[in-house]
Amino acid sequence: MAKRLRFMALLSGAISSALILSGCLGNPPSSTSDSSATTPVATPVNKNAGLEVSTINLGYIPILEAAPLVIGVEKGFFAKHGLAVNLAKQASWGAARDNLVLGSVGGGIDGGQWQLPMPQMISEGAITNGNKVPMYILAMLMSQGNGIAASNNVKDANLSINLKTSSPGHFETFNQKHGRRFKATYTFPKANQEIWIRYWLAGNGVDPDKAVELLKVPAPETLQGMKNGTMEAFTTGDPWPSRITKDNIGYLVATTSQIWKSHPEEYLAVRADWVDQHPKAAVALIKGLIEAQIWLDKPENKDAAARILSSRKWYNVPLPVLQQSLKGQYKIGSAGKVASDPAMGPLFWNSDRGVISYPYKSLTLWFLLESMRWKFFPGTVDTIEQAKAINEKVTREDLWKQAAKEVGVPVKDIPSGSSRGKEIFFDGVVYDPEKPQAYLSSLTIKK
Ligand code: CA
Repeated sequence: MAKRLRFMALLSGAISSALILSGCLGNPPSSTSDSSATTPVATPVNKNAGLEVSTINLGYIPILEAAPLVIGVEKGFFAKHGLAVNLAKQASWGAARDNLVLGSVGGGIDGGQWQLPMPQMISEGAITNGNKVPMYILAMLMSQGNGIAASNNVKDANLSINLKTSSPGHFETFNQKHGRRFKATYTFPKANQEIWIRYWLAGNGVDPDKAVELLKVPAPETLQGMKNGTMEAFTTGDPWPSRITKDNIGYLVATTSQIWKSHPEEYLAVRADWVDQHPKAAVALIKGLIEAQIWLDKPENKDAAARILSSRKWYNVPLPVLQQSLKGQYKIGSAGKVASDPAMGPLFWNSDRGVISYPYKSLTLWFLLESMRWKFFPGTVDTIEQAKAINEKVTREDLWKQAAKEVGVPVKDIPSGSSRGKEIFFDGVVYDPEKPQAYLSSLTIKK
């Protein structure tokens, strides 16, 4: 109750400061010069925040992971702390990466929403043709809320989280019957989506480099391919997996929450030069984000969030798709069993492992360990020492802590260390962040 009252006080503060500012300054002129990709900021920005800069340009992909950024803009959480956040929709993950390299000065973006280890690999030049653009990871945007979907053409295979019981020998049978390997796609390689599908297969004793063909395909082409029978599965964030079910193209094989409960999903990361030049603004950005995440996690706000996100201005998808996925309502498996459990859906603030938003180094390191496991970035991440060194440079827990204190997060909810402790996956494998080599050694299928 106390928590709720304090939150209401924060919220009414945002509203009253907005009213005062609009009273002083009058309504801002309506913007007509912005491109359709950039959304003008509606809430007047608090001019008394004392920041080094009053705007930041962030990229986003219209999936649930970006919800805290959209809500932060729409509900005025960033503006309240003195920052106008311009959110620019990115055509693809590759476009987001290229725009980050350009930076705002080059007509690009200062940061935004990322799958891991994109910020680490952009920092190291591993996915930017050797061009190193140092970045900082500032917060986790969302946990869970992603899934692996399969086409109705493989409905008989009854694919599930546990292939050993649901679909033994499926990939061998499929490959023999079709004279080609089962195709599974993602929209950007060597990051979350590919890592989840690899983890799921390997955890079931299926070698992803032998049994299936993994490839990068834009989401709309994947949907067409699943209809035509040229592709069988793909992995991504909602609304896509839920749309596949709704449009009767395929079925949800597994949610990522089944693979790893309260797992790290996507992160807010910004160019290091921007943060170093504007440390107060960086903290203001995290403060607005934290308030947006707290707002998003409240059950009573789910419908309002779905209405904002599904609108033409943002994701332009049918409202029920987002209403259901925000509440953790899925149809899982080839039989379409209805599962409704908010704890299995997207999490923005609370989880059984504590605060989601905090950028635990133990979790950002895990993506670098998986990169080692699959030999994603030879020459950049080959050893634990390299992985740890990159992780120390890129993941910033200090700014998050400062922001959390300033915005009134209770001390008990602010993590004190860099490790969330041991993590357990669906196949029983344990990742102990204190023993990264033991984790890698325990994995039987790897490259
Ligand atoms: Ca994702």
